[in-house]
Amino acid sequence: MPAVDGWRGARAWVFDLDGTLTVPVHDFDGIRAALDLPVGEPILEAIAALPPDLAEARRAALHRIEHDLAAQATARPGSVVFVRAVRASGVPLAVLTRNDHGLARITLRRIALDDCFEHVIGRNEAPPKPSPEGILRLARGWGVSPADVVMVGDGKYDVEAGRNAGARTVVVGDAPWAAEADLRVDQLDELLPLLGLPT
Ligand SMILES: [Mg+2]
Repeated sequence: MPAVDGWRGARAWVFDLDGTLTVPVHDFDGIRAALDLPVGEPILEAIAALPPDLAEARRAALHRIEHDLAAQATARPGSVVFVRAVRASGVPLAVLTRNDHGLARITLRRIALDDCFEHVIGRNEAPPKPSPEGILRLARGWGVSPADVVMVGDGKYDVEAGRNAGARTVVVGDAPWAAEADLRVDQLDELLPLLGLPT
């Protein structure tokens, strides 16, 4: 884990959206079942492996499910105060999600954080996590080393994407893959003292 000063030296922050900035509501096993996708397989990749006409229908069904969830999204405790504090400190922020860009915007509006991110990268704008490509592209655009970027998420793919990019990783919540991250918190605002920001 980087030293405390190391976290103060973070030059950019990339956030997963669903379950990280919002209260987790996505039942991925339930979505797989509703879309008749194989148990345990990543949803986007399983759809992409289908014949084109089937894939198109499943994408549309997925979009409907995700739209309903986005329209009801609520902020995860501690996330809004944290994002606003880091934003106010002048550090660039982005969202990198396996969700659709438009649905991500709906979700951000729902939790009143839609003015905080320089970039919102959805599944059609970059290869989805665990690919590091979204993080690497953001780091290049910001002119910072990936090692000075923090990837924050609640999911396994968030940690993997961060590690694949050479970024620092923070897991929000209590999941088996939290042990793979540099840091684990229950709420994002627990990070404020590490960054020397007011709580
Ligand atoms: Mg998530």
